[in-house]
Amino acid sequence: MVIIGGGFGGLTCAQALAKEGMKVTVLEKCAVPGGAFQSFCRHGQRLDTGFHYVGGIGEGEVLHPLVTYFGLEDLPWQPLDDEFLEVHTHGQTFRLHRGYPSFVDHLSADFPEERTALEKIVSLMTGINKHIYESILPGQNAFDNILMGVSAKTYLEANISNPVLRDLLCGQCLTTELTDKLPLYSFLQSLNSFIQGSYRLKGGGETLISRLVENVQHLGGEVIMRKTVSQFEVNDDGNICAVKCTDGTTYKADIVVSTLHPSLTIDLIPECKQIRNIYRRRIQRLESTVGMFTVQLEVQPNTIPYLNRSISIIETDNLWNAPCGKEAPVNTMLINFNVPEEGKFATNIDLLIPMSWDAVSDWEESRLGHRPEEYKAFKQQKAEECIAFALRYVPELKGNIVNYWTSTPLTYRDYTGTQHGSSYGIRKSFDNLLGTLVSPVSPLPNLYLAGQSLMLHGMLGTAMTSMLTCNIICGKNLLEK
Ligand SMILES: Cc1cc2nc3c(=O)[nH]c(=O)nc-3n(C[C@H](O)[C@H](O)[C@H](O)COP(=O)(O)OP(=O)(O)OC[C@H]3O[C@@H](n4cnc5c(N)ncnc54)[C@H](O)[C@@H]3O)c2cc1C
Repeated sequence: MVIIGGGFGGLTCAQALAKEGMKVTVLEKCAVPGGAFQSFCRHGQRLDTGFHYVGGIGEGEVLHPLVTYFGLEDLPWQPLDDEFLEVHTHGQTFRLHRGYPSFVDHLSADFPEERTALEKIVSLMTGINKHIYESILPGQNAFDNILMGVSAKTYLEANISNPVLRDLLCGQCLTTELTDKLPLYSFLQSLNSFIQGSYRLKGGGETLISRLVENVQHLGGEVIMRKTVSQFEVNDDGNICAVKCTDGTTYKADIVVSTLHPSLTIDLIPECKQIRNIYRRRIQRLESTVGMFTVQLEVQPNTIPYLNRSISIIETDNLWNAPCGKEAPVNTMLINFNVPEEGKFATNIDLLIPMSWDAVSDWEESRLGHRPEEYKAFKQQKAEECIAFALRYVPELKGNIVNYWTSTPLTYRDYTGTQHGSSYGIRKSFDNLLGTLVSPVSPLPNLYLAGQSLMLHGMLGTAMTSMLTCNIICGKNLLEK
């Protein structure tokens, strides 16, 4: 069995299938595994691509069964403070609190007239917790939840009268694309897991990914790096018999699981009667979420105390569908302190803002290490804007930034192969679920899909998707044990 992509999706699929006795080979195009969860080193600093914080992994929380299944529960998780998120919006500062009662009580103290609405949101979230594990059983429709067909924006506007509270509830989902198409289910699933418990991980994505690679290898699987899959060999009966790579190597396969963006997977399939043009075009036309611009700061040692919560800043009246192209001002940001290897002071801090593909598309022909000066100047100017913005909320940064590195959607496209550098893959649309949801089952009998584009992004969404795909392949509920 061949699994394409050695990101979190590919490695979790590999582990689940190897546990069932299958012989798995993971093919990953980069030199290091992890995809959007890979870590890298600059100036002696370990930096993370996309691993900042995750929700719901503690005992009794929503992701815990999956974390335990994949043997990740004993990693050095760092629970964030009970006040896990500081939100700056409408000129005021608020904190989101861990645990449903605290979440409601603290917000109700500021917005007493909204207590009932907050309680209603909590009851929707507890309903989601019950649904998650039913939704990934084989034979179930993973999206068979009424909240998938409701717009998050419309719901918030209809149920919460105070615009400040509406925006502040979005603080948690700031890096999730906030468009009026976003299903309420996706919005609440993220908020829910972080309210249950928010965690960072000492050693970041590398710690998580190394454990998964070890687990796969321990179960007899292989994870092979620097293997860019370029085409499938398909039999007359539509089965993939082998997977070809750009370096000329070929891997025989009885089953193939692709965790790439579905439009990249479809490009690997040669013309064949099983893939009708209408399916091909549908997948190729699916829109993806925007990407992100990140500024990763190395700060002066022993100067800025490590902050065990994240900071979300919203300085716009136009939070939903906000432009994030080349000329868009910096007016929202997520600030994340990475867990220091030792001591109580921060070593590096990430600033994240949404950025669309058109901000960098002028340079789409350029490749890593050979970018034009114009692009470098754009990145520098954006980084300076981001730093000036962050300084207003973290004044300790002044004079204490030693170095910084930036990434744009172009960087993500070239490192993790996401279409247009999208952060979260295919954009789901509450009013076009059939058109925006992709099934793990494909028209080729032995090709299955997984990865963040199918259901939900992030550690929670990608792990759920892996379980759904593997449950279908194995014809049983792998979590049952
Ligand atoms: C800036 C940013 C911040 C984020 N922050 C968080 C966070 O704090 N918490 C959280 O839970 N989630 C976060 N996410 C989301 C999370 O990173 C993703 O949802 C998750 O990592 C997706 O995993 P995946 O396996 O589906 O895809 P990927 O990680 O993209 O894996 C796909 C893999 O396929 C490989 N590949 C591509 N083409 C080929 C080919 N032709 N042949 C072989 N291999 C190929 C790629 O190199 C990659 O390794 C963030 C994402 C971004 C971009």
